[in-house]
Amino acid sequence: MSDETQSIHDFDLELICEYYAALERQGPGSPEITIKALSFIDNLNDKSFIADIGCGSGGQTMVLARHTPGNITGIDLFPTFIDLFNRNAQKLSIQNRVQGHVGSMNNLPFQKEEFDLIWSEGAIYNIGFEEGLTKWRQFLKKDGYIAVSEASWFTNERPAEIDTFWMDAYPGIDTIPNKVTQMQNSGYIPIATFVLPENCWTEHFYPPQVKAQKVFLERNRGNKAAEGFIANQRHETQLYDKYKQYYGYVFYIGKKL
Ligand code: SAH
Repeated sequence: MSDETQSIHDFDLELICEYYAALERQGPGSPEITIKALSFIDNLNDKSFIADIGCGSGGQTMVLARHTPGNITGIDLFPTFIDLFNRNAQKLSIQNRVQGHVGSMNNLPFQKEEFDLIWSEGAIYNIGFEEGLTKWRQFLKKDGYIAVSEASWFTNERPAEIDTFWMDAYPGIDTIPNKVTQMQNSGYIPIATFVLPENCWTEHFYPPQVKAQKVFLERNRGNKAAEGFIANQRHETQLYDKYKQYYGYVFYIGKKL
């Protein structure tokens, strides 16, 4: 990659970061759904260690922290998100047990068998579902749990427009039974799966972006990359509205074998 391409790429990433930093959550979800997923996990106490991988600014981490007394380590690639994460923990006065660190999910700075629970909402696609489950397993204690949410197909077949969109965005998207098989093949007992309700998108994910998009476009007026990015975001929202019976996010909860 030439230096010029590299700097354009970095610039785009900065824009994307600026956009998502203005939102409480960077992926589809809700406090109710985080709490529901947590209800399947029965080994936690104040001595527990939890990792939240691809934590973003920590919207879901702070919900977790309010509902479980253990220590939580958040990891995200972007310092902007980690700064917000640590500020959010400070606001709740839980910074002694909830800390964010910059790091990559491809190369986690953890010890073997360090954690009772690995959490990851809307982020494992960055490494790939099966690869993430397989690589992260070593960091779980015996009988530890993993809980991840992931884009999934609801049906065996779907219209070409949405199929093409996802094959381009994330070819790892698959049906729920196939994802469960991947979880089992990666060394976990599949404990639970459930589909995130539509309001995770139609109330919690897309509406806060409408205002954020206006502010972002005003701040980056005339910037083609920024305009293109927002056009893509709006296209994605329209696709969800049109094709939501064919795909969505699903929580997958497993226990280390
Ligand atoms: N869990 C949060 C954020 C989901 S968005 C929520 O549900 O709101 C996906 C997150 O993964 C982003 O914060 C992004 O910065 C992070 N990410 C992307 N690639 C990563 C990597 N290689 N290692 C760690 N985090 C990564």
